[in-house]
Amino acid sequence: MLTTLLFMPIIIDASGGIWSYENIKQWRRGNRYCAGNLQSPIDLRFNISTFDSRLKQIYLEERHPPEKVELINSGHTVQLNLKNHFVLKNIAPGSEDFKVEQIHFHWGHANNDNNGSEHLLEGQAYPLEMHMVTYSSWYSNIRDAMTNTRGLAVVGVFFELSEEPNPFLQPIVDALAHIRSEHQQTPVRKEFNLKALIGEDRMARYYRYDGSLTTPPCYESVIWSVLLDPVQLSFQQLHAFRYLHDAKAHLITNTYRPVQKIGTRKLFRSFHSQNIHEDKIIRISMKENHGQSLTYNMKSIAIFICLLTITQ
Ligand SMILES: [Zn+2]
Repeated sequence: MLTTLLFMPIIIDASGGIWSYENIKQWRRGNRYCAGNLQSPIDLRFNISTFDSRLKQIYLEERHPPEKVELINSGHTVQLNLKNHFVLKNIAPGSEDFKVEQIHFHWGHANNDNNGSEHLLEGQAYPLEMHMVTYSSWYSNIRDAMTNTRGLAVVGVFFELSEEPNPFLQPIVDALAHIRSEHQQTPVRKEFNLKALIGEDRMARYYRYDGSLTTPPCYESVIWSVLLDPVQLSFQQLHAFRYLHDAKAHLITNTYRPVQKIGTRKLFRSFHSQNIHEDKIIRISMKENHGQSLTYNMKSIAIFICLLTITQ
């Protein structure tokens, strides 16, 4: 069933400016945090990372099985609201639980299957990246949490192309066909299983660093965990994301921010080098091919807060 949102998501960011992926360089004008030293995304490189034995497998616990979850075209991404259904455990040793607020996606352009993810792995992008946005249970809601150090924890999940469609992603892909226009939303089939889509084993191996929201107002309040092992999706499934439209009926494409400097920050990893699959070792050894292939042909007129589109 197709419905149109009666209540629009936030269209003005918290600092009062409208932003889009077409003018990323302007973000810092109205949002001082966007020019900060703890910004995201970053290029995740093994050779600058440090193994931290305290980083254990993150665990996604289902609290209340969702009766119905809605997928929303917010004009710059698609977002699945999961309020009150899941919590993340084991973000840090002895840390509090983090409540899952929503998941959303970042992708590229129909003419380029190489780019789309926000984070890079060894200088290379993936065609799609999913963000699971959570907030500390010390706070009563995400708005209060997002302005506080380590108030948010976001899990980044890369997707890579494969021959076969991913059945766990299909309920979302099917829903995309019903929300081609901005502000449309539609229920996702009940079979959708977030835990199965991510896979429990994947939550054991990740990079960890302190960073920010990847869209204005760029608050530097995020504990980032980017999973090392990508999830698979077929070309047809990827294609479905590229046919969504924004308010101006433009295709929503290239919804990613270029990587930011890591600066003096530490990049940690939860895995030993010997635990990396062979293909990852090859990827890591491709030192000579580190040219960042991000294009800056940002067409999307994105006027919503990426990580923070909160539809109440
Ligand atoms: Zn995001």
